Amino acid sequence: MAYKDPNDARRVQKDFEYMNTERGYVGRAIGGKLKPSYKTYGGHKPHESMDKKEFWRLYMNHIINMKYKFPESDGRLCRYCEKPFTFKTRMGTRGKGYNGRKGQNPTNFSIDRYDPRLTYMASNVVFCCVSCNDKKKNSTPDDWRNFLRVGREFIND
Ligand SMILES: [Zn+2]
Repeated sequence: MAYKDPNDARRVQKDFEYMNTERGYVGRAIGGKLKPSYKTYGGHKPHESMDKKEFWRLYMNHIINMKYKFPESDGRLCRYCEKPFTFKTRMGTRGKGYNGRKGQNPTNFSIDRYDPRLTYMASNVVFCCVSCNDKKKNSTPDDWRNFLRVGREFIND
């Protein structure tokens, strides 16, 4: 539990506010990847080289890269569709465990594995929005190349 007395309204409110900041939300998303719950919920065990610091380092790199590409933005953009990230939680989801997409927070921030056959590691982590992550699902890099090739063929015709 995040707080000793879950009925302490002031604590609940403070925690909720923190979870709606970038630091709070991204911290929880990263923490979720490192929990032992991957065993229970069929998640993916991160590579040994990945700890909280490494995830944050990759996130900071992502911001720097996106800011370089889009200087007018703050760099908090989906890597795929370039829409801005939001960091929004739903009240009362803390400590409830994984509840599938229906327990999803109203945010669009997510962490993707570029190649779904590999685990979370520096060369495979992509910060993107929930809808891109859903659209991509289990597609491998080969699938992506094929989609792009067929797309180009249609456009050229
Ligand atoms: Zn996106």
